Amino acid sequence: MKKKVDFLVIGTGLAGLSFALKVADHGKVCLVTKSNLDETNTKYAQGGIAAVTYKPDTFEKHVKDTITAGDGLCNEEIVRMVVTEAPRRIEELVEWGARFDRNPDGDFDLAREGGHSEHRILHHRDQTGKEIQRALSARVRKHKNIEILEEHFAVELITQHHLGHLIKRYYENIRCFGAYVLDLKNNDVITILSKITLIATGGVGNLYNTTTNPFIATGDGIAMVYRAKGIIENMEFVQFHPSSLYNPNERPSFLITEAIRGFGAIFRTIDGKEFMHKYDKQGSLAPRDIVARAIDNEMKVRGDDFVYLDATHLDPAGLRSHFPNIYKKCRSIGIDITRDMIPVVPAAHFICGGIKVDKNGRTHINNLFAAGEAASTGLHGANRLASNSLLEAVVYADRSSREAIHDIKKLNFQKNILDWNYEGTSHPEEMVLITQNYKEMQQIMSNYVGIVRSELRLTRALQRLEIIYRETEELYKKSTLSKKLCELRNMINVGYLIIKMAQDRKESRGLHYMTDYPKSKKALDIH
Ligand SMILES: Cc1cc2nc3c(=O)[nH]c(=O)nc-3n(C[C@H](O)[C@H](O)[C@H](O)COP(=O)(O)OP(=O)(O)OC[C@H]3O[C@@H](n4cnc5c(N)ncnc54)[C@H](O)[C@@H]3O)c2cc1C
Repeated sequence: MKKKVDFLVIGTGLAGLSFALKVADHGKVCLVTKSNLDETNTKYAQGGIAAVTYKPDTFEKHVKDTITAGDGLCNEEIVRMVVTEAPRRIEELVEWGARFDRNPDGDFDLAREGGHSEHRILHHRDQTGKEIQRALSARVRKHKNIEILEEHFAVELITQHHLGHLIKRYYENIRCFGAYVLDLKNNDVITILSKITLIATGGVGNLYNTTTNPFIATGDGIAMVYRAKGIIENMEFVQFHPSSLYNPNERPSFLITEAIRGFGAIFRTIDGKEFMHKYDKQGSLAPRDIVARAIDNEMKVRGDDFVYLDATHLDPAGLRSHFPNIYKKCRSIGIDITRDMIPVVPAAHFICGGIKVDKNGRTHINNLFAAGEAASTGLHGANRLASNSLLEAVVYADRSSREAIHDIKKLNFQKNILDWNYEGTSHPEEMVLITQNYKEMQQIMSNYVGIVRSELRLTRALQRLEIIYRETEELYKKSTLSKKLCELRNMINVGYLIIKMAQDRKESRGLHYMTDYPKSKKALDIH
């Protein structure tokens, strides 16, 4: 089956939805998600979205905080651009119906998070993402030019490769003509031809055993672009959230927002000792990479399974009203956060790198844009400042949409694209192999490519991953497509990219910590 649309949008989080809303008056949009419209990382965002919206705060301070967190790898021009465009994008979200908390004077009630020098986080209680997702999903559903395909899995991008041409990476003239998409209900691959395609497929958290990300976060877009010979960068910078609720039977791990640290909560070891002052002068308000490494270290040295986040000294009414969701969740497992300390562990949370894009969201492949967590824009550098990612998603969706609206006028659909070739494939009998390889891949990534890395661990990880890679490719050639198999294949591709880029970076910087090179190159230059 073939379908023709002006704009193909893969992903229905903040990046995909806001792009779709902006381009929909200029052509037919097809919005594809492998799950339902609302099951996205966006929906789980708790803390909020960073923007300068009140006087004592300045663009300059937000720029400085972002660059400090990014540890020398942010692109300053991009940081400045995103920060200064933020207030307008926030106004748009409000116009689209997203409600942010306000104080009695009607001004935004701004929170402060780790690494921010000012109160600048707009939020909707502690469920900001859910509120944004609700508002944008409702608008998208009403737009007559937007078709929504739920339970549709994008498998491969269509390029000249599908016309029989040999394509090499860094080749300047690769063009994207759409994507092959698996209809998960009917098990049928649709050829969707598009003039413009946007990848907004989000993050990669499920590569790891413990993650705050929902099950959809398997790096599909990054893997697809890599296979289509696009450029991927900065994959070594995986952010681990320092505080997910320690509850071994739960996946995804429930996030304890950093705003609670901003509110005054502090970390303690199981025997009640405060430890963060040993690692950073900001104590429990240190940037999250420092906090995550400190917790990892305390847990490993002491042999403990978790540490505590202590909010018991804070105003109980304030805690309950600012963090109702966390309060409710902890209550459901017998923890009253106003009286009991919260057991927490670090969890894979965010990928700073991804598909390399320019300042307008263009990838290396023509007619293909990327936005949101799947993209690497230069904003985050070696470490993301909290609450800058929703902002990045909405700013890049806006910039990409402007370019796409301009480009669409001169583009046509590509002819002679064949439908998906099912030849040589049979029913997948081997769910056991898929499931076991999935688990093994998560073990490899968690044990050897986690918060602390070394040359030896990375070499071992690559050797192990190569075995799973060969087995999975073999299975892929023989089997009819399934979501699990495609996801496994994508995650192995993404795992490979993380390991290779981690091996190439012979220093510790931002989120990438190597025991063999404990200092950053710039620090070594100075001393
Ligand atoms: C628990 C949690 C809390 C967070 N808190 C904050 C916060 O407070 N502030 C902040 O700025 N950021 C936060 N983040 C990060 C932020 O939520 C994400 O970076 C951001 O929402 C990503 O948006 P996105 O549009 O790029 O992707 P997502 O919202 O993840 O959407 C991805 C979409 O792609 C679809 N998709 C993926 N692969 C395929 C495929 N093969 N075929 C079809 N569809 C596909 C998915 O189904 C989904 O619709 C948090 C993240 C988590 C997990």
